[in-house]
Amino acid sequence: MVELEFRKIFSGSLFEGEVKFMEPMSSHTSLRIGGNADIYALPADIPSLIGLLINLKNNGIPFIALGGGTNILVRDNGIEGAVISLKSFKNITRIKEDGDSVIIYTGSGVLLQRFITYCKENGYSGTEELAGIPGTIGGAIYGNAGSFGREIKDILYSIDIMNEAGLIKRFTTDSLNFGYRTSGINSGNIIIGAEIKLKKGDKEEITKNIENFLKIKKEKQPIWEPSAGCVFKNPPGFYAGQLIEEAGCKGLRVGDVEVSNLHANFFINRGRAKAADFLKLMEIVSYKVKKKTGLILEPEIKIIGRDEFVEG
Ligand SMILES: Cc1cc2nc3c(=O)[nH]c(=O)nc-3n(C[C@H](O)[C@H](O)[C@H](O)COP(=O)(O)OP(=O)(O)OC[C@H]3O[C@@H](n4cnc5c(N)ncnc54)[C@H](O)[C@@H]3O)c2cc1C
Repeated sequence: MVELEFRKIFSGSLFEGEVKFMEPMSSHTSLRIGGNADIYALPADIPSLIGLLINLKNNGIPFIALGGGTNILVRDNGIEGAVISLKSFKNITRIKEDGDSVIIYTGSGVLLQRFITYCKENGYSGTEELAGIPGTIGGAIYGNAGSFGREIKDILYSIDIMNEAGLIKRFTTDSLNFGYRTSGINSGNIIIGAEIKLKKGDKEEITKNIENFLKIKKEKQPIWEPSAGCVFKNPPGFYAGQLIEEAGCKGLRVGDVEVSNLHANFFINRGRAKAADFLKLMEIVSYKVKKKTGLILEPEIKIIGRDEFVEG
């Protein structure tokens, strides 16, 4: 019934791409957790994305953008409305060179790791510290991803954002409100792509630096296990992982979700974990940290989806 209603949205429209209904989000998240999205749409190009947004707006259907799904926890009751994957927006183009600087345009669906490989192969320096962060350029910009003291905002030159009405505007980095793990971009907006400013460098040195950063990551983080990266933000002056470890939470488990023994700010899906278990474990860990230190942990992961079960 619901699917029939949604199908009407696409009938007769010029939408190019893929559409699925009642799509399990566990197939689209690194945590492998999450109920069904009413609509999962993968527009092939900008006109299809514009058409889709206008149709959704006219029908009062909410939507959310999806990159690699590596920083989200989708609730068990799924997502109301549409999940829009930007995976087709994967062009990388060199825009201009100026002395030792270079500006590269990248679509928001490009995997951050693919972009880093492109930079390495071309001898462009600036992304090395971000090696090992999964997900897309769009997701990295939305959450201002970072590691080893480098944030993606440091290399952003401009960002192309489409609003709910399908209008695209170019923003300079300074005109947005970037901060620790935030870009200030509202969830009703979709990042289409960005210009990234890099320095020309020595290929061998860039490669060596990437390998070093990756080595450290692999030693300290369970990057091969199903997680969504750091669950909580670092409170000012503290490391959330250390606080969680010192509160005795390593190895704590609810259902199939477990606090990693390697890095306590990573929660691992040990099998058939449910979002409800994940949220419960977050609650227990926050409580223990607050009890021991008085500090309140704030989620770094984005928690999305229906709160309550809806029949239909
Ligand atoms: C093993 C592991 C290690 C990690 N290490 C790090 C780390 O070192 N540093 C770090 O910062 N993060 C880390 N993360 C978290 C995560 O990889 C990053 O936050 C990543 O940038 C998220 O990108 P994504 O494409 O997967 O975003 P998603 O998870 O798909 O989305 C995250 C948020 O961004 C929004 N979004 C995504 N794409 C767009 C778009 N095009 N337009 C508008 N909004 C959009 C979504 O709506 C959602 O709210 C790690 C995760 C894992 C699993």
